[in-house]
Amino acid sequence: MSQSSPRSITILGSTGSIGRNTLDLISRDQSAYRLVALTGHQQVDLLAEQARRFKPELAVIAEASLYPRLRDALAGTGIEAACGAAALCEAAERPASWVMAAIVGAAGLAPTLAAVRRGAVIGLANKESLVCAGALFKAEVARHGATLLPVDSEHNAIFQVFDADDPRGIEKIILTASGGPFRQWPMERMEAATPDEAISHPNWNMGAKISVDSATMMNKGLEIIEAHHLFNMAPQHIDVLVHPQSVVHSCVAYRDGSLLAQMGTPDMRIPIAHCLAWPRRMATPVARLDLADLGNLTFEKPDLNKFPALSLATQCLHNGGAAPTILNAANEVGVALFLADQIGFLEIVRLVEQTLSVLALPPPKDLGDIHEIDILAREKAQSLAQSSLKTANTASSQYKQK
Ligand code: NAD
Ligand code: MG
Repeated sequence: MSQSSPRSITILGSTGSIGRNTLDLISRDQSAYRLVALTGHQQVDLLAEQARRFKPELAVIAEASLYPRLRDALAGTGIEAACGAAALCEAAERPASWVMAAIVGAAGLAPTLAAVRRGAVIGLANKESLVCAGALFKAEVARHGATLLPVDSEHNAIFQVFDADDPRGIEKIILTASGGPFRQWPMERMEAATPDEAISHPNWNMGAKISVDSATMMNKGLEIIEAHHLFNMAPQHIDVLVHPQSVVHSCVAYRDGSLLAQMGTPDMRIPIAHCLAWPRRMATPVARLDLADLGNLTFEKPDLNKFPALSLATQCLHNGGAAPTILNAANEVGVALFLADQIGFLEIVRLVEQTLSVLALPPPKDLGDIHEIDILAREKAQSLAQSSLKTANTASSQYKQK
């Protein structure tokens, strides 16, 4: 890509899978970009290494106890070091024309909003922001004239083939899903699935949280909600289709019977490059798709009994109000507990379902309400999980005594 003046870029979550892929693309033509800020959570050595190589103005580590290590690693470089939640927002507020929002979970909401509020062009990977804050998030985007470019591969695919000038010509959008590592597993085997098995995605190499979400298919549930907000599609016009090869990244069905799809090898650098170069195209080193080599592409309907997260997320979208925020927060708690070996794999979605059924909260009126609902849902999910753990422990100790 050759441009007259370097583009200013900030990467929120530069140490993660999406962040590293973004820096990989930038590294191939580094003089075309000027890095403003990079942020990470706990991988302080990697963040320092990225900062020394890409020379941003500012590097922020979210975990405050790691600040001295970052500061020392960057001493003498002229790169500012900072820490904590407020500094993440400050990083997003610095003038950069393009911001990659790649923090995982609702933790990404405040920094992403800080970039939205200065009208930046934002590559949105952090789908949880849109799921938990929905219409209120979009209202901020509209109010501040920000631009959201979908990085999520399915939404990026739709964005590439969606005729925004004639949305009434669109009948539905079809999100493809790999089906995750347990697509062919029986429920009994899924019950005992380990974190290692859940994060071994067949096609994509991603962060732990989204990998577990792919295994429960909650990821697709979150993506239904994400698609609703990004493309203004009613829930009944959003379908999910399982496509184990992850080559067709999603489709748009038009009222004349045309079905437009975007295809490519499963490599996140394609959608990231699409957003990075938007509205143009840039060269990438990704493997090219060889259809003859592939031979067959297969498609099937999702198994809603095995993957209840899909219906649960759709129901939350229908119900609106606080439901999507609760869904997202309880899922984050469930995934974290599963990754810490505290609950079983199938209990993740059960916990989300239980949290939704016991927590009756009024619809959010503003972003402050979203924050409160998020906190209350996390507390409730934690306490539900603790009480079921206690019951399980009591039952097993009674059993042992017999
Ligand atoms: P990851 O776990 O690899 O990286 C997450 C990043 O967020 C890291 O930089 C981490 O340091 C940072 N982070 C985590 N918790 C934080 C906190 N509390 N405060 C500040 N920073 C924090 O995750 P990922 O796979 O790169 O995914 C990032 C986002 O992109 C997620 O929302 C995910 O759903 C979305 N996404 C990822 C992929 C993919 O292929 N990895 C594809 C589509 C969408
Ligand atoms: Mg996706």
